[in-house]
Amino acid sequence: MKMRLIGPEGLDPFVYCSHGTPVPSEGDVVMGYEIRYGAQEYIRRKLNHLLNIRLILVPWGRNSTVALIYLLHWETEAETIGLDEKVFSDRYTDSDFEGSVRTVYSNTICFSCKRQWHTLIMPPGDYYPGRGSDMFYEKVAKREILRCPGCGSSLRQLVVKIIEEAFPEAASGHP
Ligand SMILES: [Zn+2]
Repeated sequence: MKMRLIGPEGLDPFVYCSHGTPVPSEGDVVMGYEIRYGAQEYIRRKLNHLLNIRLILVPWGRNSTVALIYLLHWETEAETIGLDEKVFSDRYTDSDFEGSVRTVYSNTICFSCKRQWHTLIMPPGDYYPGRGSDMFYEKVAKREILRCPGCGSSLRQLVVKIIEEAFPEAASGHP
């Protein structure tokens, strides 16, 4: 596991963590930043299996000693091949990050069919310090926002990845 402060795409510097880096807990101090809102247990268990995701720690404002956890997500695994090597040998460019969006984990319920899904969502608002809300909307426009796999309804969140169903046994009608 390796970590490095980088600022691609004109963004304020954030901590990039190599694939497989253990997810810190709330209160941990990592690279000089105190972590707020540690990732949920689900992500702690699943993150290492998702190749097109990187853990990042985003400082909460300039000169802050507090950082928030995000999951940088690319649409395809091909986009992240060799990325760790590029970052840690300082050979990465903006184009390596163009396809990425900042996400957080969410247990998303479909209001139509009531099935629940483990998902990654783009939180609404400005989560791109250094570039502002314009970049947020640019990122949203580049990605397909997913609908409920069960019934096709809108999930009412900016869902970019559905990992699997939560409580599938409940949906199938078994006790
Ligand atoms: Zn549904």
